[in-house]
Amino acid sequence: MIGGWGRVTGSPATVVTPDCDEDWAELLGAAGPRGLIPRGGGRSYGDAAQNAGGLVVSTMAEASIGDVDAAAATVEVGAGVTIGDLLRYLAPGGWTLPVVPGTAAVTVGGAIAADVHGKNHERHGAFGRHVAAMTVLTPAYGTVEMSPTVNADEFWATVGGLGLTGIIRRATLRLIPLASWWVSTVDEQQPRLHRVLDRLHAASVSSDHAVAWVDPLGAGVITRATTARLGALTPGRAARTRATPTLPGRGIAWPPLAAAANAARRTAVVLRPRHLRPLSELHFPLDSLPGWPRLHGRRGLVQHQFAVPFGAEHVLAYALQAAREAGHPPSLVVVKVFGEANPAPLSFPGPGWSLAMDFAADPALGPLLDRLDERIAAAGGRVYLVKDSRAHPDLIAAMYPGLARWRAVRALLDPDGLLVSDLARRLRLADQRIDDQIGASHA
Ligand SMILES: Cc1cc2nc3c(=O)[nH]c(=O)nc-3n(C[C@H](O)[C@H](O)[C@H](O)COP(=O)(O)OP(=O)(O)OC[C@H]3O[C@@H](n4cnc5c(N)ncnc54)[C@H](O)[C@@H]3O)c2cc1C
Repeated sequence: MIGGWGRVTGSPATVVTPDCDEDWAELLGAAGPRGLIPRGGGRSYGDAAQNAGGLVVSTMAEASIGDVDAAAATVEVGAGVTIGDLLRYLAPGGWTLPVVPGTAAVTVGGAIAADVHGKNHERHGAFGRHVAAMTVLTPAYGTVEMSPTVNADEFWATVGGLGLTGIIRRATLRLIPLASWWVSTVDEQQPRLHRVLDRLHAASVSSDHAVAWVDPLGAGVITRATTARLGALTPGRAARTRATPTLPGRGIAWPPLAAAANAARRTAVVLRPRHLRPLSELHFPLDSLPGWPRLHGRRGLVQHQFAVPFGAEHVLAYALQAAREAGHPPSLVVVKVFGEANPAPLSFPGPGWSLAMDFAADPALGPLLDRLDERIAAAGGRVYLVKDSRAHPDLIAAMYPGLARWRAVRALLDPDGLLVSDLARRLRLADQRIDDQIGASHA
């Protein structure tokens, strides 16, 4: 059974791990009628890297890291290299990645395929902006070199393309200099959501990284971080992980427990608003609790992350209020600010706000999140597909207006629909309808 990180999805599949050129050459021919889908670190929350009854292609053997090209400020890496391993390799030489997601276990391939964002989107955009080139195995054309200038449509369809346009084998990534492995962080409390948003927006402009944690009532803590002036470039040891049991019931999403955790968080901020901490602690707070989904009980964790444009702040307030009133206050709520979007048709971030809520999985969440999705779509927003496990297919075209354009490129790269995932089937992502074809040819 191959599952998502949230432990709410899973399906039987055959996993293969190609580890030499011969394996790769035979791979596409080995796909049966249920097709295949690439899988990196398995850190998508839902069913993006699952393929019921078909093949799941692990890229973890594509693990080479080349020398840094200091003149070009780039490095070429295998798609199975994890972000954590890459950061630790780069740091001693004074380099880092401009964009890093919230766990070190994400692979470079998974980061490109989801066009992941960090806590600095206004400054650096999403991951795809920093991919100089990549080598992608496609069903129609075999191995294709893609970059923002060579096969540009194919490149941007693969950035955020959820593994459905080809399997990324290698990528050349742009780097930025790293002055220190340490960051100075300042935590500031605000009692109301609109104040949290104001302060978060200001912090995202003035600091290297900015993120807010809010409680179910909308009060929150804004964390802003700036690279420390002094400090070692050596990343010390990887974060110590704690064993996490499966909690009964809703686990830490049980409202009294969630309230106690929120109160403890506030107290910690009062006691110690300023920190000097390693970059890894800022980037990857949940990596010390790898069993986070288990803490949400036997059924696992549903994360609902959405983005809405500036001006649609009422949708953020609605999300919190609706969850509270339905008796499902989230265990964790994280708000970020997004800047300019990438040209990738399926990329998630665009100018505005992102709000992510963690819930203990429960069938009763369905109607609540369906209503929320309708508001999000009506406000010009979207859900983050790589974290989804339950959205309705009819809303996806409204949420992702570039879907028809993406389908047209995908149809060229994979005309027989060899690349397919449970997510793609559930949301009918790859169904190229007649109206799409007409729309794409007029675009
Ligand atoms: C604790 C935690 C924190 C997170 N924080 C963030 C965050 O801050 N920002 C953010 O944007 N995301 C975040 N995520 C989500 C995560 O970054 C994405 O789900 C990412 O895609 C996972 O990468 P992976 O290597 O684990 O890929 P998988 O989960 O294995 O696969 C994800 C998708 O990528 C495709 N894929 C994987 N490898 C390849 C390849 N080589 N070629 C083509 N397609 C491929 C898969 O088919 C699938 O569609 C977080 C996840 C967790 C668990």
